[in-house]
Amino acid sequence: MNYIDTHFHLDLWTNPPEIFSEIEKQKVYTIAVTNTPSVFYYTEELANNSKYVRSAIGLHPELAVERQGEIDLFKKILKRTRYVGEVGLDYVNITEDEKQIQKKVFETIVAECWEQKNKIITIHSRRSASDIIDIIGDNFPGTIILHWFSGSFKEMEKALSYGFHFSINNAMTLSKKGKQIIERLPNDKMLTETDGPFIKNKQVPHSPLMIPSIVQNLSKIKDMPVENLRVLIYSNFKQILMIDKGVIG
Ligand SMILES: [Zn+2]
Repeated sequence: MNYIDTHFHLDLWTNPPEIFSEIEKQKVYTIAVTNTPSVFYYTEELANNSKYVRSAIGLHPELAVERQGEIDLFKKILKRTRYVGEVGLDYVNITEDEKQIQKKVFETIVAECWEQKNKIITIHSRRSASDIIDIIGDNFPGTIILHWFSGSFKEMEKALSYGFHFSINNAMTLSKKGKQIIERLPNDKMLTETDGPFIKNKQVPHSPLMIPSIVQNLSKIKDMPVENLRVLIYSNFKQILMIDKGVIG
């Protein structure tokens, strides 16, 4: 019984080694995103030889101004991994100068990924989906996963026409807008994520172990049997990796 979590902040969990061994036991394929390049080495070491957890190189948009100096380190580490995130843009409460810095950092990251090809990128796009879509453009040589998408349906349509995927978390399965996004999402572009430990339920932070309950919520919205939906999401992820025999690429 394999599950998928394409966006989890392993390094920010209270006890990362402990949750890591639980993830391995429960067989949840997990992309461990990071918010700054320097954290990558920690998750890489933790996930060393793991069958289910992969560490991603990230530079969170809300840290872009403070950590723009780490962009060279980002480029260096990018050669070591196929997984990228959390990266993106966040236009909530920022000045025009900050917006320009975020854009510059994100454009640099996208250009590097474009050049190196085959990267799997999990992207934050709060109030910025339109710029995100335009910067990436059509025919990106890799996989784009819009995480916790909250943009307009028009932006969603454009992203889909460019072949982007969407990862759905618990908050989305419970909100009105989130449900509408899920209803419109083609089955083959759907993935699951927790965004733990940022997303909490009754004070309990979400971890990849929560994915089965997200799949259950999704099955109601999509009106599909739970097991069919679990298999569908697993095969979407496998398709991305172009793998078989359950070996993560
Ligand atoms: Zn996140």
